[in-house]
Amino acid sequence: MDNLDNLDSLERFHNIYVEEEARGYPLAMRVLEKFEAEAHIISDFREVPKPDGNEKNLILARHRGDILKRCPGTKAHIRCGYHVINQVVGCDVNCTYCILNYYVNAPGIVINVNLEDTLSHIDRTLKEHRKYIYRVGTGELTDSFYLDYLTGLAKTFVEFFADRDGAIFELKTKKVEIDSVLDLKHNGRTIISWSLNSGEMAGSEEAEAAPVAERLLAARRAQESGYWLGFHFDPIVHYNGWEEDYEETVRAIFDFVDPKKILWISLGTFRSPPSLFEIIKGRYPKSKIVTGESFPGDDGKLRYLKPLRVEMYKKLLSTLKKYGGDDLFVYLCMERKDVWGKVFDGVGEAPKNSVDLDRMFHKNLKRRWKIDGQS
Ligand code: SF4
Repeated sequence: MDNLDNLDSLERFHNIYVEEEARGYPLAMRVLEKFEAEAHIISDFREVPKPDGNEKNLILARHRGDILKRCPGTKAHIRCGYHVINQVVGCDVNCTYCILNYYVNAPGIVINVNLEDTLSHIDRTLKEHRKYIYRVGTGELTDSFYLDYLTGLAKTFVEFFADRDGAIFELKTKKVEIDSVLDLKHNGRTIISWSLNSGEMAGSEEAEAAPVAERLLAARRAQESGYWLGFHFDPIVHYNGWEEDYEETVRAIFDFVDPKKILWISLGTFRSPPSLFEIIKGRYPKSKIVTGESFPGDDGKLRYLKPLRVEMYKKLLSTLKKYGGDDLFVYLCMERKDVWGKVFDGVGEAPKNSVDLDRMFHKNLKRRWKIDGQS
């Protein structure tokens, strides 16, 4: 779908609100000129009333708080040291398990338009920590390509990071409309990652996302444009037949892309704060994700029991290696040290702690950049 086709979907926004202080930013002006409707001027986005029924508000605001946020991680679990930029908050994919379901009372989709502040903050941070390689992404509270036809943010960030040695930038998505970045000079400093699941779970929990095969076709196009690729199996769900179904997705990855262009693959079994569990049950009665047995961990989140998680990770890891080879860099998202130890026992390296995991990422990045002539 090209950018003009996407203009039809502007109608989805019933009201547009702009913070007084956000009006003058180029990104605000760029977005506003695409809409015919008059924008409501407000002093603070928290004033915006919750929309009625299926109506949707678009809010242009100034980012407050940390611009480059370390991924919060979770108590007693190994963190990977990832950093997130929340330039857009909100998404149209409506995955049943998404943390955005927590914000059911949010007044609308927010675009933080003070992009210049973000870029200069990142620039300063990278200069102050020259020996560190930041892993940075825009896909925590949105899909990295959501509203890209309005904002052009994917292109802006790819071009910004192309000239910076101290970072790798990740566009994380379940979408296939990635044309805006395909012809850019990225210098190997951007990785485009797709969240993947079994076909069964993609159908029931990610019904509004592109089907898995289409995501992989898009990944192949990204590879042809020289991008690094990433895949995130998260959440991995336990149900009857999960092993065969996930194996099918894993096999498909390597039918579509070259394992040498895969920079990382993450694995994370389904976990959820208890209240989100209840929200999912209420909002998505057909969801199959909350039917398995989960138990609270040290951080209060519900998870499968440890032996089951270990079994699921081991199975996925061996399947990935079977089809993609031993050289794949696979990591666990927000897992405990003992789980890491059991999963990688005899088949790979397990980090001692969060700092050690960061070191493993550095080593992997430097090695792959060097092989690709990008160091
Ligand atoms: S694509 Fe990501 S941000 Fe969007 S609804 Fe799904 S999990 Fe949430």
